[in-house]
Parts: sequence; C-alpha cells; structure tokens
Amino acid sequence: MTIRAVKGMNDVLPDEIGRWHELETVLRRRLELAGYREVRTPVLEPTELFVRSIGEATEIVEKQMFVLERSGESLALRPEGTAGVARAYLQGTLHAKEPVSRLYYLGPMFRAEQPQRGRYRQFWQVGAEIYGDHGPGCDAEMIDLLVGMLSELGIGQLRVLVNSLGSAGTRARYREALRAHLTPRAESLSEHAKKRLADNPLRILDSKNPRDREALEGAPSILDLLEPEDRAHWDGLQRALTALGTPYEVSPGLVRGLDYYTRTLFEIQSTAGEMGSQNALLGGGRYDGMVKELGGPDIPAIGFAIGLERMLLAMPARDRAPAARCFIAPLGAAAADQALLIARELQNAGIQAEADTRGGSLKSLLRRADASASRLCFVLGDTELERGVVALKDLQARTQEEVPRAEVVARARALLSAPPAAAGGSA
Ligand code: AMP
Repeated sequence: MTIRAVKGMNDVLPDEIGRWHELETVLRRRLELAGYREVRTPVLEPTELFVRSIGEATEIVEKQMFVLERSGESLALRPEGTAGVARAYLQGTLHAKEPVSRLYYLGPMFRAEQPQRGRYRQFWQVGAEIYGDHGPGCDAEMIDLLVGMLSELGIGQLRVLVNSLGSAGTRARYREALRAHLTPRAESLSEHAKKRLADNPLRILDSKNPRDREALEGAPSILDLLEPEDRAHWDGLQRALTALGTPYEVSPGLVRGLDYYTRTLFEIQSTAGEMGSQNALLGGGRYDGMVKELGGPDIPAIGFAIGLERMLLAMPARDRAPAARCFIAPLGAAAADQALLIARELQNAGIQAEADTRGGSLKSLLRRADASASRLCFVLGDTELERGVVALKDLQARTQEEVPRAEVVARARALLSAPPAAAGGSA
C-alpha cells in the first residue's frame, strides 16, 4: 500500500507554488514597508507555553494540539504563531533593545481540527506583532495595512469586523453579566456551552449551535460595559479608522477562539473566489497581558494572523508571464557535454536553463522542450560543434537562428529581455 500524507495535511506541488510565492512576496513587501522584521521560531515549543498564553479552557488547548512527550518533557506542535514569537521576543530581550518592536513570521501551524475546505490540520500563516505600543493608533494602522494588502492582492467582498474586549476589569464585569443572562436559560444551552458557562462564558459567544444562539438573544453587549480607559481606547480606534477611511463594522459578538485578547479584536472575512463557509481570511487583536503572563515586563502588544490557504481560495487567478527558460537539446555524446556547459553558463548569468542529456531524436527533444514550457531551445549536434555554433529556436515566436557558441548567453539574454515577437516569422 502506498503511504499517503497525514489527514488534513497537504502537499503544495510545483504547479501551485507560483501563487504561493506571489502571495508571500506581496505580504512580505508590505510588512517590510511598514517596518516589520521577520522572526523564525521553532515549530515545536513546550506545551506549557500554549496553555499559559492561549488559555486552558479553549478549543485549541483542550482538543486541537498535537502533543508529544520527549525525555519527560511535554512538547506541542505550534497551533499558532503569537505565543512562540512572544517567547522569542522575551528570550532575545528585544524589549531591552528597542522601545517598539514590529515582528512578522511565516510558517506552518498545526491543529487537530475536522478537515474541510479552508480548514486543515497543517495550515500556513503569515502573522505580525507590534510590542511596546499601547495606543489605538497602531491598532488602526494594522487593520488598514491588512485592508491595503488584500486590495493589492485583488481580494474583494470584504467585511472588516472590529470589537473591543476591554481589559481584565471590563471582562470580569462582562463575564458576570453574561452569566446572569445565560444562567436562567442554562437548560436550553448545548452541553458544551453548559460547561463553558462555569469556566469561560465568553467562549459561548463563539458558538454556532442554534440553541446557544437563541439563548444569547438579548444578551448584554461588552461594548456597553467598557471601563472608562477601555472606552477611550475603543473610541480612539474608531476615530483613527474613520480618519484613514478604512471601512469597518462594529461586531460586539466577535470574541475569537483564544483567551489572550484584550481590548481591540478584529477579523476580516471575504466571500470572494472559492471561499466557502470558512470565510475568515485573518484575525487578530491586542494581547496586552501576555508578555507579563509569560514572565516578562508589562508590555502591550497587538498582532494578527492571515491563513494563506484561505487567501489563495479568495485570490483571483491572474495571467502568468511565460517562463523565461532555456532548454538545451544535444544530439550525441559530445554535444551532451557542451549542453551541460551551456546550461551552467546560462545559470551563472542568472538565466533559468536546463540541459536534457537523456538522448533521443531531434523530434523527441523538441517535443520535450515544448512540454517544459521553455521560451528558448538551443539545439546542437556534431555539425554545430564542428562549426562552433548553436541552433537557437524561439519557441514562442517560432523563429530560428544560428548563434556563435561564444555568444549564447548574450543572445539568450537579449531575446528574453525583449517581448516575444509575433509567431510565424522566418523559420
Ligand atoms: P486564528 O489563529 O485562529 O486567529 O486564525 C487566523 C487565521 O488563520 C484564520 O482566519 C484562518 O485564515 C487561518 N486558520 C486558522 N485555523 C485554520 C485551519 N485549521 N486551517 C486553515 N486555516 C486556518
């Protein structure tokens, strides 16, 4: 029996990778323009890191982590990137070196979820964090940056949802208000929500169960219970978003699945392209308490994570420029050695080139050249070797010429830098 990939974990094959690179290039460029620098952290972290930051009574920590034991230590495949970056920020004492740090990451995350379109067990995220700025201005800037990135990528039909969860005091008051609303309705709640009512009632706001949704009708809104400083922060965020002209909707039911959030919370959804029910492209928010919770100083922070697979589902297909590639087709053993030399010369000059030394007739070599989607094909046999030339076919323009061996690189460069001539010229 052949071995298959783990359920919910996907390969990305070469035909698809071009779109990934396109997406990653735009995200990296935009982030770097806004002053973020990349960090790379391990895929495996102490399980305790996620329990402490994400929260014990969350779906991720309770059910979705891939945990393994090694030498008596419990390790987990990271289910998200923020906790690891916060740990690295502290461990690398970045806070002592710069007042504000803007960091970004790109990598795979792991959650044992029920796989479906747009929901996988290994998925890729690009995320970014700002440490050391507590003001709502940087929250608005971050949301606006995200809207700009999505628009550059051609992703439309956006909904930008924002909410505030306040700080610890606001949330404590809100938890009680929500409990007071739900306790008389506890009998009609789902089993899962009944459990959450005791340990983490805010999580019930995430529930899609119709019974829970009904019980939540008429529940108080956290935005009505914000303490004065939280209210000022929330007002500041809305003012800045309005000044930037960033479209947004206030969504008091937005809580998202992690416990570390404080104050600003946001999610951007899209119904574009092939997005199905998993329509959240990205989410993020402020987590002012996490650095302290992990044993560091009291440093405010905000971040987001974008799901790359979902972005690819939403991104429109774009026409791709034909590959600027050279195919070297030698006829015979002596020509094969020359072909390898030519390929190396072209590659050293920064031109993509591939020599096919498997042998075969001219016809079969030209067929392979066509199949490789190359733009240029160099053909050489004994006659060309003797005369010190190479036959060059422009496979797109359908033209042919003879090039002195010493001018192969210069001629390839000239042809590849000019747009292909119309097909059908001198053959
Ligand atoms: P989160 O880390 O849960 O805040 O999610 C941020 C973004 O990551 C989501 O909006 C999705 O785009 C993506 N994401 C989260 N979980 C998955 C998953 N299981 N499969 C694919 N993408 C995911």
